[in-house]
Amino acid sequence: VPGFEGRRVAVLGLGRSGLAALRALSAGGAEAVGWDDSPESRDRAQDAGMELRDLGARDGFEGVDRLIVSPGIPHLYPTPNRHVAAAMAAGVPVDNDIGLFFRSLGRGEWLRMDQPPRVVAVTGSNGKSTTAALIHHILTETGRPSQLAGNIGRGVLDIDPPQEGGVVVLELSSYQTELARALTPDIAVFTNLTPDHLDRHGGMGGYFAAKRRLFSEGGPDRAVIGVDEPEGRFLANQMAEAPEDDRLIRVSVEAKLSGPGWLVYARKGFLTEWRKGRQIASIDLRDIAGLPGAHNHQNACAAFAATRALGLSPRDIEAALNSFSGLPHRSQLVAEIDGVRFVNDSKATNADSAGKALQAFDRIRWIAGGLGKDGGIGSLAPYLGRVSKAYLIGHSARDFALALADVPHEVCGTMSEAVARAASEALPGDTVLLAPAAASFDQYPDFEKRGDDFVDRVRLLRG
Ligand code: ADP
Repeated sequence: VPGFEGRRVAVLGLGRSGLAALRALSAGGAEAVGWDDSPESRDRAQDAGMELRDLGARDGFEGVDRLIVSPGIPHLYPTPNRHVAAAMAAGVPVDNDIGLFFRSLGRGEWLRMDQPPRVVAVTGSNGKSTTAALIHHILTETGRPSQLAGNIGRGVLDIDPPQEGGVVVLELSSYQTELARALTPDIAVFTNLTPDHLDRHGGMGGYFAAKRRLFSEGGPDRAVIGVDEPEGRFLANQMAEAPEDDRLIRVSVEAKLSGPGWLVYARKGFLTEWRKGRQIASIDLRDIAGLPGAHNHQNACAAFAATRALGLSPRDIEAALNSFSGLPHRSQLVAEIDGVRFVNDSKATNADSAGKALQAFDRIRWIAGGLGKDGGIGSLAPYLGRVSKAYLIGHSARDFALALADVPHEVCGTMSEAVARAASEALPGDTVLLAPAAASFDQYPDFEKRGDDFVDRVRLLRG
């Protein structure tokens, strides 16, 4: 990272992104010191040759130019972090690795290129990973050098040196956008907004404000904005200078958009693009195995819009969409055995995302449960008609059984039992769907391990 030669920069949190920040700062000639409250992380950093210093202690920030905070550290809510508080008291600017990345753009190597890389940043409550991965997939399939980084793939400071004409696709969480002091993507994408992580942002207002930062500071060259919620409509309104403004691409899966602007929406499984009142393209999304359901059609529309903004043709994008196989643990088709499909949506850790998964399929044998969340699964009532039977696992199994009184269900306890029971009862045309509507921590270290367990059990069925 340029701009800190000979200056002292502190890094709080010594996970993957913190270590990358220390390395990048040192490489740029800064005097970088790190800290982590966990002794194990400190030991690992020390073994890697990093200099450590307790920042929260008296005078910890003397001579420090900037504090880089890892996204995993709650800095303000629910309780202020002592190191961040000390930095603020000492008047030291707080930043993160994303801010450092954007600061390095347009300097050094980038300056010497004819076609410097472009940066696409994706944020929103749901669909960020899928949309970012889809953009990366479309670019790769059409031969554009692309790197996927941020909240998915590699840390931003761990990517390869940028290439002529290349693209860096970033997935950014609200934790990352909130702190970055520079946020200047060429193309910014906002998928949607639902309440999430409110404890860390002090409520919905703070959460939206964190995401909206991607669209301030003069704004990106192009903004792709999902307008199915009032917040998205507000943001779109702020971005467009005039109704026909080409800087904005509006995206929807709920309404047939109209007007002179640039529009991409999906209805009944068909994506259409309009510009200046004329239809430009239409794509059938219904049979794309990696993108089932209206929520994935929203992701497809956003990725289509972002790659159109990069100058790709609708025809090339269509071909690439068709070869997208989906991300692991998000509506991932694992196998089809004797006419029964097995789908892994372990990432559906709350009722909201499980609802999206239920809407994407019919005749569902639903594996659900885990560590239940506040609010339970009452909101899923409208989709239960699609469920032939539920197979309940984990800590919340009995609570879910009560909520599912009108739906055939059984308490299976474990994944192996649930998969075995569902598979033995499924008929051709059924879908066995893991969409837990609960966190995984009662039985697994994380949602990936839970999804992997499901996949392993399904593979065993094949024998
Ligand atoms: P994120 O990275 O924002 O968490 P993912 O692409 O990993 O999003 O998807 C997370 C979960 O949210 C998936 O399991 C899926 O069920 C659901 N989901 C995916 N895309 C959308 C969307 N556009 N709108 C609502 N829910 C979605």
